[in-house]
Order: sequence, then structure tokens, then C-alpha cells
Amino acid sequence: MKDKQIEQLIKAEKIRQTDGLELIPSENYVSSDVLKALGSVFTNKYSEGYPGRRYYGGQENTDQIEQIAIDRAKQLFGADHANVQPHSGAQANEAVYYAWCEPGDTILAMDLAHGGHLTHGASVTRSAREYNFIRYGIKDVETGEIDYEEIRQLALKHKPKIILAGFSAYPRELDYEKFAEIGNEIGAMLMADMSHIAGLIVGGVAKNPFDYGFHVITTTTHKTLRGPRGGLILSRGVVGNPLKKPEKTLENLPTLIDRAVFPGTQGGPHMHTIAAKAVAFGEALQPEFKDYAEQIVKNAKKLAEELQKRDFKLVTGGTNNHLILADVYNSFGIDGKEAEIAMDKIGLTLNANATPNDSLTRFRPSGIRLGTPAVTTRGAKEADMEKIAEWMKQAINHRDSEERLVKLRQEVKHFCQTLSAI
Ligand SMILES: *Cc1c(COP(=O)(O)O)cnc(C)c1O
Repeated sequence: MKDKQIEQLIKAEKIRQTDGLELIPSENYVSSDVLKALGSVFTNKYSEGYPGRRYYGGQENTDQIEQIAIDRAKQLFGADHANVQPHSGAQANEAVYYAWCEPGDTILAMDLAHGGHLTHGASVTRSAREYNFIRYGIKDVETGEIDYEEIRQLALKHKPKIILAGFSAYPRELDYEKFAEIGNEIGAMLMADMSHIAGLIVGGVAKNPFDYGFHVITTTTHKTLRGPRGGLILSRGVVGNPLKKPEKTLENLPTLIDRAVFPGTQGGPHMHTIAAKAVAFGEALQPEFKDYAEQIVKNAKKLAEELQKRDFKLVTGGTNNHLILADVYNSFGIDGKEAEIAMDKIGLTLNANATPNDSLTRFRPSGIRLGTPAVTTRGAKEADMEKIAEWMKQAINHRDSEERLVKLRQEVKHFCQTLSAI
């Protein structure tokens, strides 16, 4: 590169990603093919609109790229329709709210402090100003059971237009059937934000909300799905006449969503990202991806077990998916931020996270959140989870000894060099 400053930082970041253990559950390593598509000339192209109906000329290649991405996404999730244009998970959610709700309408979603996402109505977001978010949470912190009776009561009382299932920090499976029962009782649209577990769904190790009557799935494409940073909206319904203003019916969801993405909330699609999404969806359709998804969950379960052996108290007592929430405050008397910093020093990247009904502050919460999607991509297996758990415990024990931390850092680096390259 001519720009040495940026080139040097790209190199440094590659070394950081190679020599450390990536345990943030929302991160992953894309394939070199995905990177190639991302760095391709499609970044030069404007293509507002959708395949076959664009506002600019020169679309003979973009139309094909986007159509391939759409077809592969539909096949992966068993959807009637896919919109591959959202720039991120936040944009995907925003577009669905915009497609289905009027200002002031009510949306029922999981509490942020109980594992929901910022885009599910946190007061700092734009959508929280526009729509009326009501929250449900976890009934039993020991088991992680969601209070479905509470959801039903809230739904009957507030008559939400959307019931939203999905999370960023919840280690258990949701009961989609119960959500669907409640939604159908009050005539709400059922939306699942599967950002974290989309890869587990297409890999067959997590349930697909469409099998239980959900109408819309939103997801990021860069978490367990292992694609480029981006968003994706899948839906049930019939692709109707795009030129006519559609009525707000479940059948019309595909048209409503397309219009809400463009021109409703976005301008030109990022065609280089869509090319990279198409590549990633193609990879996720291969049989090896199933093995990958299975290994993510096996690794997470093993890591949870090994942490518990070392006195880490886990929220909900374990995991059924790719992520673990450990209450380090109630385990060792240190807050999540302190634990995060200690782990960082030895090359383990994870994040401090609130636990349900946390007694500490949001900036220094009680928990840490970690997961196995990225290390599994690098080939880590169950036996490696024991090592990771031991390093985590050591980092906490020796957090005040720079000398011990430096030694641990060396051990982690050595181990990372035995894993597959990124
Ligand atoms: C990550 C995430 C998002 C947002 O994705 P961005 O691409 O960061 O905008 C939305 N919802 C859930 C549940 C997530 O985990």
C-alpha cells in the first residue's frame, strides 16, 4: 500500500487477531474468499433499487450477485423472501420496525439487562423515541427460564404490533412455540432477531423460528454466520407488486420490508459486502458448516464445564449455544471490567457484561461474556477448552502480578501459533 500508516495498522491488527484468543461471542474470522469479495471492485458501484429494477445503469453483474445472495439466504433459512441490503444488524431491525409499525406503536422485546440488544428499544436509540417498547425478562436467573406467562400478560395488556424474540447475551434456547401462541392470540407480528445464533440455526444445532410460525427473522451476517459485517432480513409472505403502496398485511411483508430498507432507511446498497455475503452463504450451505456449528456448541459446553470446575458461577448454570455469561463478581469478588482487563493482558479477548438483576453499574458490571465461534473457526476442540478455562482462572488469580501475566501471555501466544492461520 502507498499509505504506510494504514498498512502498518492493518498488519498490526492481523498480528493481534492471530496471536490472541478471540472469545467475544459476536466475532469470527471470515474466509479468504469472503475477504476477497469484500475488497473487490463492487465497492465502486451504485445500485439503488433491487435486481431488475435499479435507478442506475450498468447493473448486469450486480443484479446477478444480489440475486445469488438472496437465493442462498432463502435456502439457508427456509424463507420466502430475503433482503440482503441492510448495512448492519441495527439497520435490519430498524427497517422491520419501520415496515410494520406507525410512530407510537408498541413492540414487546427482551430487556437489555436480561440479554436483549440495544436495538430492542434501549432508551438511547432512535427507535425508542419513535415506538413504545415494553420489556420482558428472565424469571429464574438460576435456570435462565423466561417468564412466558409474564410475556402473555404484557401482550394482552399492551397489544404490541411486534413481539420480538432474540438476544445478545442469553445462553439458552428460546421457546418459539410459546412466543407464537401468544403472538397469534393477540394478532402480533412475530419477529426473531437471530444475530448471534444464525450460524447455529443454519448448521442445524439451534431451532429455526420459522418452524414455529415466526414471520420475520433478522440477523447480522458477521457473527456465527461467519460472513462480512452486515445485516439480513428474512421473511414469510408473497413477493407482491413493488410499485403499489402495499397494505400492512403479513402476506405483504416482503414488499413492506424491501421498501423499508430502500428507500425507507438506506440509500445505495454496499454491493461489495453483498458479494461477500453471497460467498459466506455459499460456505454456510456446505456440509462442513454443519460440523463447524456442532463444534461451536460442543466447545462452549466443555468450556462452561471447565469454568465451573474452577469456581466460575455461570448465569443459568451453563449453555446450550455458543456463549457463556459468567458472574465473576459473585464468584471471585471482582467486577467484569477488572476481569476483562486481566484477560486482555494475557491475550484473551472477551467483554464485561451485565448479569440479570445486576447489583453493580453498567460500566463495571458483575459479569463477563464469552463464546466459542471464533476459536472454533481456528480449529480449537474440546481439549483446548480446558486450557482456556485454566488461563482465565490464572489471569484472575494473578491480575496484580505483571510478571505472571507476561508469562501467561507467552503461553497463550504459543498456543495460538498451533491453531490454524486466519
Ligand atoms: C449484534 C446484534 C445486533 C446489531 O448488529 P450490528 O451489526 O452491530 O448493528 C442486533 N441484534 C442482536 C441481537 C445482536 O446480537
